[in-house]
Amino acid sequence: MVYRLKEMLDSIKKMFSVEGDEPVSSTGKPDISREKSAELYEKSKTYFPGGVNSPVRAFKSVYGTPLFIAKGDGCQIWDADGNQFIDFCCSWGPLILGHNHPKVKEKVIEVMQNGMSFGAPTALENELAELLLKNNKYIKKLRFVSSGTEAVMSAIRLARGFTGRDKILKFEGCYHGHSDSLLVKAGSGLVTFGETSSAGVPKSFAAETIVIGLDDKEALQKAFEEFKDQIAAVIIEPVPANNGLLLQSKEYLQYLREICSQNGTLLIFDEVISGFRVGFEGAAGYYDIQPDIITYGKIIGGGLPVGCYGASAEIMGSVSPEGPVYQAGTLSGNPVAMAAGIAQLTELLRSGFYRDLNAKTEEFAESIQRFASAKSYKFKVFSIGSIFWFAFTDQDSISNADQIDPSSMEKFKVMHRELLNRGIYLGPSGYEVGFISSAHTKVDLEKAKRAIFESLDIVFRK
Ligand SMILES: *Cc1c(COP(=O)(O)O)cnc(C)c1O
Repeated sequence: MVYRLKEMLDSIKKMFSVEGDEPVSSTGKPDISREKSAELYEKSKTYFPGGVNSPVRAFKSVYGTPLFIAKGDGCQIWDADGNQFIDFCCSWGPLILGHNHPKVKEKVIEVMQNGMSFGAPTALENELAELLLKNNKYIKKLRFVSSGTEAVMSAIRLARGFTGRDKILKFEGCYHGHSDSLLVKAGSGLVTFGETSSAGVPKSFAAETIVIGLDDKEALQKAFEEFKDQIAAVIIEPVPANNGLLLQSKEYLQYLREICSQNGTLLIFDEVISGFRVGFEGAAGYYDIQPDIITYGKIIGGGLPVGCYGASAEIMGSVSPEGPVYQAGTLSGNPVAMAAGIAQLTELLRSGFYRDLNAKTEEFAESIQRFASAKSYKFKVFSIGSIFWFAFTDQDSISNADQIDPSSMEKFKVMHRELLNRGIYLGPSGYEVGFISSAHTKVDLEKAKRAIFESLDIVFRK
């Protein structure tokens, strides 16, 4: 009876709701207040396209207006309305130590006292490079840039310059930043030239990019037959984490390594997410596979803009001023950004860091999976290192973008809203993965689990 009454009230509320897209939260309780965020959003829309400076922030695939974040500390963030959340977005991955880590903050403030940028070399660049190279056997020399996009774009140019070939091969379901030759998606067919996935990318650029599906040896063989001696590089996220978490088998990655070597093609591991995440040596170390070029971003800058690409001394010798491949940057190796990177990587090198973080994540993922399986919910938690992905599926593994059912994203949308109402912040898209930082304590994760259980019960409510 009480329930019927609530249902009636809900439908009356719905009838008078101006925002047809936004019924009250499925629990019937009002959503958390987003008044200040909504005000800021109205303003930001007059300044920026879609009100944001990066598209996924606009909450297009979830309910409500984007939350404007006022501050973060540890694993918590607070929005402009004062709502507090446990944050599983972590700035899309960089904050592996959580927000405002004291060691990172101190180092940044210390270095800032001496000025912000010189456009001349500093000892800090050597320091970060040394930390990296001494603890990563997969690259011997590197170049710092200011974003992941820039790192990948430069790595592609380097591969082309080094091999003297033009074509590159990428995989559907991997994201490599927004440079022209990588904003391409697969057409229909096993092996296709890319179709541009953004206006403004010339067809002729996209025609230099071959796109195939992940985890498909046959397509890979066919591509190498069809474009013999033309492919400069194959680029892959060895842990594809930008379109769900499409974990590949070690065997497939090894096969990729071999077929590249046989064809004189360079293998680029785009480790902008997986680098320093699945271990200090990233996916190269995790799978023990030696790529030819590796790109890093996100974690490497400790929350400030740093990207990097690295390779053998021979390959890096092609980069200017040593070699003929031009690449430069006014703010590359910026001292303040280097300082944040140095402080963060130093913490990651402490013994047991990854063991503890990964164990915490495994326990978190497994207990959510146990809950969902016990209730026979069509829901899977995929995880590796401290990355997790909530998938509304009953498949035991998903290794190819085609295996994701787009209609399952409706369920994510409901879950996202219920989680926000319970103080849990996930990135605003079901195609995005979540990240756990060393600042997430057992207590935080228990709290988050309870909220997730409740939200799943609502999503799957009959
Ligand atoms: C984030 C990301 C990029 C782009 O990095 P930006 O810093 O956003 O330019 C490239 N490749 C991968 C794998 C990424 O996750």
